[in-house]
This record gives sequence, C-alpha cells and structure tokens, in this order.
Amino acid sequence: MSMDLSLANLPRTKLEKEEKVKVLILGSGPAGLSAALYVARANLSPVVLSGIEFGGQISSTYAIENYPGFPEGIGGMELFELFKKQAERFGTRIEMDIAKETNLSNRPFRVKTQNGKLFLAESLIITTGARTIKMNIPGEREFTGRGISYCGTCDGWFFREKDVIVVGGGDSALEEGIFLTRYANSVTIVHRRDQLRAGPILQERARSNPKIHFLWNKIVTEILGDGSVEQVRLQDTLTGEEMEHKTDGVFIFIGHTPNTDMFKGQLEMDDLGYLVIDRLMRTSISGVFAAGEVADPHFRQVITSAGMGAAAAMQVGHFLDEVVGYTRE
Ligand code: NAP
Repeated sequence: MSMDLSLANLPRTKLEKEEKVKVLILGSGPAGLSAALYVARANLSPVVLSGIEFGGQISSTYAIENYPGFPEGIGGMELFELFKKQAERFGTRIEMDIAKETNLSNRPFRVKTQNGKLFLAESLIITTGARTIKMNIPGEREFTGRGISYCGTCDGWFFREKDVIVVGGGDSALEEGIFLTRYANSVTIVHRRDQLRAGPILQERARSNPKIHFLWNKIVTEILGDGSVEQVRLQDTLTGEEMEHKTDGVFIFIGHTPNTDMFKGQLEMDDLGYLVIDRLMRTSISGVFAAGEVADPHFRQVITSAGMGAAAAMQVGHFLDEVVGYTRE
C-alpha cells in the first residue's frame, strides 16, 4: 500500500519541477538581458536563468566608459541593475539558477538546472558568455584566493600598499592594472611580447601611470610562496633565461574561453569552442539562437553583446510566429 502511494506521488513531484516556456534565455549578461527585454516586449514571457555569474562579466567590471548614453561612464554593477530593471519591467522572470544539462535533439528543448528543475522550451537563446582562461602553471591552483586573482575590481582592495603583477597585454590586463593602482604601491605588467595588444587609449593611460611598470618578453612559469604568494618564476621568451620576481599578488588576464561545454556534440562550434551562428543569430539547430561572447570571439563589447541579444530576440519572435505558429496573448 505504502509503495503504491509513493509511486502515485512520483509524477506530481516531477510535474512540479517541470515548466513549459516559450523562450528560455541562458545567461544574464548584456546579451541575455537585452534579449529578455526584446522578448518581453514582444509579449513572449521570457524566463532567464541567471547562470553562475549574475550579470555576466560586467557585474565585476569597475567602470564602463564605452557604452553609449553614459558620457561620464557607468559602474558595471550599476549598468547591470539598469538592464535587469528594464527587462523585468516588461515581464521578464529571472531565476537564480544555472543550466546544467541540455537536450536539443527535438522541441521542446529540455534544459535541466542546478536546482533540479526541468524546462521544456519552445525556443532557446544561449548567452552563457565566456570565462577567464587559467594559466595552468604550478602554484596557480594552490594560491588562487591567496594572492592570485582573476578580477582586480573584486579583489584590488586586499592589495592596499602591496606590489602586484598583472599577466597579459590586452585591454583587460591594462584596464584592471590601471584600476589596481588605486590600492597597490606598484603594478608590474608582465607580457610575453614587447608590444601590447590593448587599444591605444588604455596603453597611453597605463604608460603614463607612475605606479605601472612593464616587464617585456616574459612569461610566468611558476607561482611560489608559503601560505600566500611571495614570488613568481619568470622566463624570458627571447633568451630562455629564468629569474625570480618578488610580488604580493598575481592578477591573470590572458583571455577568455566560451561557456559551451554543455552544448558539445549538439551545436556546431569553431575550433575554440565558440558557437557558430549565422547573421540571423541562428545556431545549427532551428529554434536555438545565440548571442554575446558565447558566439563572438572578436568584438566582445557590452554594446555588441547587447545588440546581438536584441537581434536574437527578434529572430525568436519570427521563429515562434512562423515555425511554431504561436498566437500572441
Ligand atoms: P585578449 O585581448 O585575448 O588578450 C589576452 C592577452 O593575454 C594578450 O596580450 C596575450 O598575449 C596574453 N596571453 C594569452 N595567453 C597567454 C599565456 N598563456 N601566457 C601569457 N600571456 C598570454 O583578452 P582580454 O584582454 O581579456 O580582452 C578580450 C576582449 O575583450 C578583447 O576583444 C578586448 O578588446 C575586449 N575588452 C575590451 C575592453 C574595453 O574596451 N575597455 C576591456 C576589456 C576587454 P598576445 O598579445 O601575445 O597574444
């Protein structure tokens, strides 16, 4: 008898954890929230799964100076709050949850979440973004959080009056390095070449900052310390010569990798794992669209991601009207 009851309960428990949605958006960065705004304004009641980093990379960016409409610049967190507020105003529902597993073999697409929910989605907009690349050198894992960081904006305060190094020569390295000079005594940028990849404005700001120094043609081969970072081992990329350099902190900004693991074998990707999309934001599966850094190894700006999100949302509208045959409420 008791066994029958528990069996009878099974489907209901399952049903409570299942939800059918017209549009499911994976990720809450500029692409995801811009897509949500457009989908919501088309009366299609989008659900956004926040992902690991609520707000995506902008939420840990100190200041954004190149998003139009904010001539004095705007804090990353502040911009995220505005994106969120605007998307919610028109009916977006944001769930603090993470997509863990997808089955895109047929519609509705099935997305399982970390909180144990199963979404059955008629259409999907993937905006899962990208994450920072690790160096994979001895000491990196051991000292992460004990002197190694991937976010100057988040951790800079802990390095007041300390000497730190920044690894990388791109926009992120310079932007974060400049930010770190608010706290640190000195910031040494360690770059593997003798020319920076970063844009000219950041280069000029970094070069004219008295707290910023450069170590050219060097890679970090090991991070050493006793409980926390004390020094790094460097290698000269031209001569092979090795040397040690004392430092209190190591900030690593050597690029990003797209968050596409759960789509492997289902969606077409390029060699680096970025989703392949066409000009209409369509992935290799009809009804699955992608926008932002998960599908853009090139531009990677807040404005381009937001634009891609809006475009994907408009295409979802067409898809639901024309292919699925939805009538709007
Ligand atoms: P990035 O442009 O790919 O630069 C990565 C840097 O790390 C490069 O200088 C690269 O050296 C170096 N690097 C790569 N692998 C390395 C390794 N294993 N060891 C040592 N150094 C290594 O990445 P990003 O700076 O994160 O920028 C990503 C994108 O976001 C770019 O499109 C950038 O323009 C954009 N972004 C824009 C802003 C802004 O506009 N304010 C701010 C941040 C980011 P090489 O130069 O030798 O390849």
